[in-house]
Amino acid sequence: MKKIGFTVFMFLACILFVFPQIGQAASATSIYLDGKALDLPKNGEIQNINGNVMIPIRVVVEELGFDVNWDKKTRTVTIEQSGTVIKLTVDSSTATVNGKAVKLAAAPKLVSDTTIVPLRFIGEQTGLKVSWDNTKKSAYLITPNSGSGNGTGSGENAGSGSEAGEPEQVPDPSVDLANVGGISFANNRLMIAVDKNVTPKVFTMTGPDRIVIDLPNTKFADTFSNGQMLDETKNGYLEVTEYPDVSKVRYALFSDNPSTVRVVLDMNNAKYYEVVNENDGIIIVNLDAVAPSEPAKPGGNGKKLVVIDAGHGGKDPGAISVTGNREKDFNLAVALKVEELLKQETDIDFVLTRSSDTYPTLQDRVKIANDLDADLFISIHANSGSASASGVETYYTRSESKALANIMHKYLVQSSGLSDRGVRTASLHVTRETDMPAVLLECGYLSNKSDNALLYTEAFQDSVAAGVVEGIKEYLGMN
Ligand SMILES: [Zn+2]
Repeated sequence: MKKIGFTVFMFLACILFVFPQIGQAASATSIYLDGKALDLPKNGEIQNINGNVMIPIRVVVEELGFDVNWDKKTRTVTIEQSGTVIKLTVDSSTATVNGKAVKLAAAPKLVSDTTIVPLRFIGEQTGLKVSWDNTKKSAYLITPNSGSGNGTGSGENAGSGSEAGEPEQVPDPSVDLANVGGISFANNRLMIAVDKNVTPKVFTMTGPDRIVIDLPNTKFADTFSNGQMLDETKNGYLEVTEYPDVSKVRYALFSDNPSTVRVVLDMNNAKYYEVVNENDGIIIVNLDAVAPSEPAKPGGNGKKLVVIDAGHGGKDPGAISVTGNREKDFNLAVALKVEELLKQETDIDFVLTRSSDTYPTLQDRVKIANDLDADLFISIHANSGSASASGVETYYTRSESKALANIMHKYLVQSSGLSDRGVRTASLHVTRETDMPAVLLECGYLSNKSDNALLYTEAFQDSVAAGVVEGIKEYLGMN
């Protein structure tokens, strides 16, 4: 199966805006994938419904080699793509991606026997480059590694609705748009010149690595194209050759309602960055910033962000103790006590991967931490083994987590009063796939009678929770 990143589908989205009337099929539309015309099903034209371009989903994703299943009873389309499961239901404006609800701009529709879905959603969920030719009524989709086509689009800045002069899409004049006057990259910094205060939304995407900067309520200044490339579809790019982390800077009018300029840094590798926005006319994304997760860094004025992960939950009870206690309940109880203690810490922000008896997948837990650029990830578990095994262990996977593991373990031993079974390495999903120092604490053995009896006492849980917070503070240089 071709591996398509999250970006491909995004570009398709913009295409949709240029179509004509609501609910009216555009005539003789075509979709080209890597230069090859796809056979559109009968009545499977691209359509514009309430301003959203809708494309027949099956023909595109099947051609990409994704698994597509249609459940007639629930009217649900399930698309599977290298570990990502996307579910779309006809007439429901909520889709799910790996079980998480995602709002759609428009509900998928069943037209004859063909399900059509918003192009924007497709664009957001894949890595295709997309462009739209309004004259030829054709969408061009390019897979990132196809080697075909070049410059027909620029990844997730999938087309804009502005180029075709769609009257319904004229921005609300009451919104005072800021002008983006120029975009440059120097000294390992992206610099974006704006003529009004703008609050950028910055996030990362992977496969390939990108840093995405959305600038709400902005447009390109009329003079922008004098200084740098901007084609008629309001797309352009800068090649970056002197800096090893970045290969290209792309930019586009990503949306015209609300008008949003998107700038994308195509990265050669994931990299920590800092956004500097002092409302002085220049927004900076600094790739030379020192990651706050490096404990050597003095102070820092920003708060640290800690992710607390109560292991298992919901359908997954974890280990079952000798007396029938469920590991998930212990893990959650400690996590909630850690939460209460962290609320007292003014310099630490925190996020729990779960705060009730639910089951986020391991991928969800990692994604929460990575998306938030958290500084630390602490997973709380209890162990199970032979009846005689007793004590605590701390696990990590990547070497950058070792210092955290050593400190957390010291406090775990102290606060639990149980025997020290050592700091260990193991290739565990949550400690391996996270981007920040991450540890998994095994706070005793549920298979051991005396450990088990202790673990479900309030006093033990209070003490371990306090130890976790002390460890976090020591690692972050706060105590
Ligand atoms: Zn566990």
